[in-house]
Amino acid sequence: MKIHEYQGKELLRKFNVVTPRGKPALSVDEAVKVAEELGGKVWVVKAQIHAGGRGKGGGVKVAKSLEEVRKYASDILGMQLITHQTGPEGQKVNRLLIEEGADIQKEYYLAVLTDRATQKVVVMASSEGGMDIEEVAHSHPEKILKEFVDPLIGLTEKQAGNLAFGIGVPAASVTRATELIRGLYTCYMETDASLAEINPMILEGNGNIKALDAKFNFDSNALFRHPEIVAYRDLDEEDPDEIEASKFDLAYISLDGNIGCLVNGAGLAMATMDTIKLFGAEPANFLDVGGGATTEKVTEAFKIMLKNPKVKGILVNIFGGIMKCDTIATGVVAAAKEVHLSVPLVVRMKGTNEDLGKEILKNSGLPIISADTMAEAAQQAVAAVAGK
Ligand code: ADP
Ligand code: MG
Repeated sequence: MKIHEYQGKELLRKFNVVTPRGKPALSVDEAVKVAEELGGKVWVVKAQIHAGGRGKGGGVKVAKSLEEVRKYASDILGMQLITHQTGPEGQKVNRLLIEEGADIQKEYYLAVLTDRATQKVVVMASSEGGMDIEEVAHSHPEKILKEFVDPLIGLTEKQAGNLAFGIGVPAASVTRATELIRGLYTCYMETDASLAEINPMILEGNGNIKALDAKFNFDSNALFRHPEIVAYRDLDEEDPDEIEASKFDLAYISLDGNIGCLVNGAGLAMATMDTIKLFGAEPANFLDVGGGATTEKVTEAFKIMLKNPKVKGILVNIFGGIMKCDTIATGVVAAAKEVHLSVPLVVRMKGTNEDLGKEILKNSGLPIISADTMAEAAQQAVAAVAGK
C-alpha cells in the first residue's frame, strides 16, 4: 500500500525526522489559507498523487507570494499529472501539499528497503539526490552507498555516520544527517514498510538537514497491525479493478497485454504469465484465485478480467490439489454462462479428478478449448488472440 507525501511526512515527524512545515489542502482557498498560516515569503505548492517525478511533470511549483500560491494551486488542482511513474494517461490531482520553501544547498538521496539477495534491510544513500535514482544506478553505480543492517543490532550510529560522510554531508551537519537516517530506519521498521525513500534529503544554508520528499510502500500482509496506516489509504489513487478484486479476496494486478489469466496459486500464476510471454503474447493481468476458489469467486474473477476492453482471450490454469478439478470446472462453466463469455476460453487443469473436470467442460456446450500441458495451453491462448 502506498500513501501520499504529506502523510509520509506526518509519519516521519513522529520519528523525529525533520521536514519542512506544511499542510494538505483540498481547494484553492484552503491552499492560500494554509500558506497564510505558515507565514514566511516562499511556499511550495505540491501535487499529491501516488507517483514520483511530479516536479518534472509540472506538479511542484515554488510560489513567492500568496497570489502565486493561489495561481499554482488552481493550475495544479484537477490537472491530469503525467510523470514517468503514472503511465501516459496520468493521474488526476485531488490534493495539494502547501509547505514552506526550503533553502536548498545540496540534494541527497536516501532510502531504506529490503534487499532480497542478502535477506537484510539495506540503507542506501547517494550524493546524487533529487534526480532519478535508477539513472544514477545505471550510469554511476559507485555513487550509491549501501549499509546492510544486522536485524539483531539494528542500524548503528557508525553505519549511519558512514553514509552521511560518504555522500559528502559537511562535518558540521553530519550529526543531524545521522539522526535523520536513523529516524528513517526506525520509522521503516516500526511501520512494517517495504520502502521508505527520501529523495531529496537536503542541506540548508543554516546547516539543517531535512526530508524534502517522502515516499512509502507498506507490506500489505502487516497492515492488520497498523490501523493508523490503513487510515491513510486513498482509494482514488488505486486501480478500481484491483480494489474490486480485493473485496473478493482475489489477488489481481492489471497489466498491459490481451490474455486474461485465471490461476490458483501465485507461483503458478507467475509461471503462466511467463509461458504466455514465451509464446509471444502478453498477459492482461495477474490473478490468483487462491486455494478456496468457489463458483462465486471464479465468476467475480471473470467479471473483473472482462471489464478490461483489452482482453481478447482467457487462459484458466488450475492445479487441482485440495481444490478438485471437477469443482473448478463447474465454477468455470457457471461463470462463463453468467457473464455470457464472448472471448475464446482456454482451460488447462491438472490434478485431483482431472478427467471428471474435463468431462464437465466438454459437456457444457460452451466453446471451451481444453489443453493438457502448460505450453499447449499458452500456445492455444496465443493463437486464439492472434490478430485481434
Ligand atoms: P518529485 O520527486 O515527485 O518530483 P519532490 O518532492 O522531490 O517531488 O520535489 C521535486 C523538487 O522540487 C525537489 O527536488 C526540490 O528541488 C523541489 N522542492 C520540493 N519541495 C521543496 C520545498 N519545500 N522547498 C524548496 N524546493 C522544494
Ligand atoms: Mg522526489
